[in-house]
Amino acid sequence: MPIATVNPATGETLRTFEEMDREQVERRLTAARAAFRQHRLTDFDERAEMLLHAAELLEADNADIARVITTEMGKPIGAARAEAAKCVKAMRWYAHNAAALLADEHPAPDDVADSGAEHARVVHRPLGVVLAVMPWNFPLWQVVRFAAPALMAGNVGLLKHASNVPQTALYLEELFRRAGYPKGCFQTLLVGSDAIEAVLRDERVDAATLTGSEPAGRAVASVAGDEVKKTVLELGGSDPYVVMPSADVARAAATAVTARTQNTGQSCIAAKRFIVHADVYDDFARRFVDGMAALRVGDPTDEETDVGPLASERGRADLEELVDDAVGLGAAALCGGRRPDGLDRGWYYAPTVLTGITDRMRIHREEAFGPVATLYRVESLDEALELANDTPFGLSSNLWTRNEEDSRRFLRDVNAGGVYVNGMTASHPALPFGGVKRSGYGRELAGHGIREFCNTTTVWFG
Ligand code: NAP
Repeated sequence: MPIATVNPATGETLRTFEEMDREQVERRLTAARAAFRQHRLTDFDERAEMLLHAAELLEADNADIARVITTEMGKPIGAARAEAAKCVKAMRWYAHNAAALLADEHPAPDDVADSGAEHARVVHRPLGVVLAVMPWNFPLWQVVRFAAPALMAGNVGLLKHASNVPQTALYLEELFRRAGYPKGCFQTLLVGSDAIEAVLRDERVDAATLTGSEPAGRAVASVAGDEVKKTVLELGGSDPYVVMPSADVARAAATAVTARTQNTGQSCIAAKRFIVHADVYDDFARRFVDGMAALRVGDPTDEETDVGPLASERGRADLEELVDDAVGLGAAALCGGRRPDGLDRGWYYAPTVLTGITDRMRIHREEAFGPVATLYRVESLDEALELANDTPFGLSSNLWTRNEEDSRRFLRDVNAGGVYVNGMTASHPALPFGGVKRSGYGRELAGHGIREFCNTTTVWFG
């Protein structure tokens, strides 16, 4: 993929960037290693001061960087501003909480009595240079949720961002530099994905985190495995959204529209499969389809727009193939199922609800990365759970019910890294985030996230 800013609303190439050559990458690797030697020696107060400064700068840049994001990947402008604001919050949260999250741990006195380990403790030391391979869908947030904890832990970061968001990638490097981080603490590598293997194999790189698709995750994790380097993988999702008879159906349907179409449906944690009990199916389906059909699709710079273009022509083609495959095998589109009228430039797709899904259809098992929902009717919670778990993914899950027993069973039996009852999935700095199965492994955010890239060390004094 060329490294370029191509406006998804028009298809116009606005800027192209020269890929960094081997020598430029080499200089950055050397700078990263040198920076780690210094940064690991800083204390939490010094690190917090720099991160709080970065937060302040990002807060001031909100409107400008939001315009860049919308231009590069087509997110509606209000959502781009909200993303930047969320990054500011996460930076402040880690600046204020990292010291406590990484505080030394002491074994319970009774557990170590008379063992010789009475004075032992556990310390969390930084791991080193962490390579972050990131996607375009939340081009600031995905990076900041890695960078804020990593830098607070004393690590340094090398960012390989998606090729279609180079201006956002360069902005991030510049942001951390302006905030006072020494040279090499956070650098962007403007390279294609074929350059990643050599970077990851380099002995100056200690670990990697990747957010993106399963093939990319597999490629990076294979190399890291070969080199015995730690990885965290945040991959795709096809989250179930189960609605039971006792649910507040009006609220469940209104939330379903947002849950499916946030970020124009290009979110790993978007609810994608809507599994509805027969008792409330007709009511839910009517409200959900009405809500999806009423969304305003159009220019993402217009404040009134709900759904913008897909981020790339390829992304829209993939989505169309999934819908066409399902319809060809007998699914029905209750709304959408095609490109919207009057939006010929740009990579738009109409919000779509499909029913009549069978397991012969690709969309039953593959992730639909755009505003396309599948709707299933079930007769019981058992059937809902079976369907919810009938997926290679296990990122998050949603349940709508007022029945405590339903909630208890859903939590016990659904195979996912998140369970959201009577609400839609959202990430928060204080709560861990991640999945199971093909959605990846490891956790980001909260204490779990910051400790992923630490050398957890037992210290024993005789
Ligand atoms: P993608 O194609 O996998 O790209 C993600 C990143 O990986 C990009 O920087 C890409 O670089 C790089 N990459 C691709 N193939 C690679 C390879 N073989 N080796 C090394 N790097 C490689 O994913 P996407 O289409 O941008 O993002 C959508 C996917 O990300 C969806 O599946 C979505 O669910 C997932 N996602 C997951 C989470 C989560 O937290 N679980 C969050 C957001 C998105 P290039 O751009 O240069 O190809």
